[in-house]
Amino acid sequence: MKILSVNAGSSSLKFQAFEMPEEKVLISGVFERIGLDSSFYTIKLNGEKIQKEVDLPNHKEAFEILVEELISNKIVESLEEIKGIGHRIVQGGSYFDKTEVVTEDVIAKIDELSALAPLHNPAAIVGIRAAQAVVPNAVQTVVFDTAFHQTMPEENYLYALPYEWCKDYKIRRYGAHGTSHKYVALRVDEILGKTNTKLITCHIGNGASISAVKDEKCVNTSMGLTPNAGLIMGSRCGDIDATIVPYMIEKTGLSPREMDTVLNKKSGLLGISGVSSDSRDIEDGIKAGNERCILAQKMYVRRIIDYIVKYYFELGGADAIVFTAGVGENSIATRKAVVEGLKLLGVELDEEANNSRGKETLITTKNSKIPVYVIPTNEEVMIARDTYLLTK
Ligand code: ADP
Repeated sequence: MKILSVNAGSSSLKFQAFEMPEEKVLISGVFERIGLDSSFYTIKLNGEKIQKEVDLPNHKEAFEILVEELISNKIVESLEEIKGIGHRIVQGGSYFDKTEVVTEDVIAKIDELSALAPLHNPAAIVGIRAAQAVVPNAVQTVVFDTAFHQTMPEENYLYALPYEWCKDYKIRRYGAHGTSHKYVALRVDEILGKTNTKLITCHIGNGASISAVKDEKCVNTSMGLTPNAGLIMGSRCGDIDATIVPYMIEKTGLSPREMDTVLNKKSGLLGISGVSSDSRDIEDGIKAGNERCILAQKMYVRRIIDYIVKYYFELGGADAIVFTAGVGENSIATRKAVVEGLKLLGVELDEEANNSRGKETLITTKNSKIPVYVIPTNEEVMIARDTYLLTK
């Protein structure tokens, strides 16, 4: 069965087509600069990458081209062969704890939650509408980044703010990257050969979060109401004293919106180093002896260790720790620094194994009390799996 996995942003649309249940990727691609000038799309097929410049006034146009590409590349003979289309949704609030088939009511709820994900939820709705218009017979599903975290107990998702704020304004921890945390947790359980496990999953990309997972269910996660909580990220500050915000608004006269930009786009690795939000640039800076890059990396690593240790105690131990996403899969130096910071827990790095990028690897020694794995994430296949199950 042919299933499409779709991730629509405000000006982009990423997709992968799968043959399910084999989970074989048939074609993938991304449309960029939708609604802007110089728009283009890239397609990956049989290991080859093709880029085409084309007018993309809106997401519907992108979807039409997507379908034409599927047909001209003989992925499908007709539209009817695309049985299911799964859409990635960033914010599902407390409404959604699993993947759902799209209905008007589901769309209305996603729309209502736009206040909590102003860049992402409206774009996803545009993507759903485009898919419905172009492939009307396919089952459309929505896969939520927040769904996996809905199993957190109240004491972990509430903030110590006026209790009514949660009910009246929906202020609580929702987390993010849930599809990725779930994917790597399930994969590690497959490797360990059991499901009753305690796992600490570290999704360390440009955005970064850590989750505590027990028996394949999330019990805690580091992101909060929005992605700007927990870890230090590329350009997000993560956990800070909340009173800094009103204090600095008074001192600088920044508007709430401008403050939001500082906290999300000008902080983190970028804010401390003054160099870049990209950990590759930070690593280059460290090699060149840049003091602020050295400091930024120390703070970044410290915070990751803090969360791992916190969740280790919360779970009452750990059967495995997992690294995934851009930094987790590729930064040898960051992984090494984190694992060395966990020595007291009996974690022992295998330097040679750690010297690899982007592939599934056990990076600790046989003697290590907790195995640490690198597992490349695959949110697209999770979307395809859920969509296949709901379509079948
Ligand atoms: P996003 O949150 O945007 O999905 P990714 O998971 O794709 O982010 O991670 C992107 C980040 O991964 C980059 O900003 C960079 O910091 C990091 N990264 C990618 N490759 C490497 C590498 N070889 N060494 C260190 N960091 C890397």
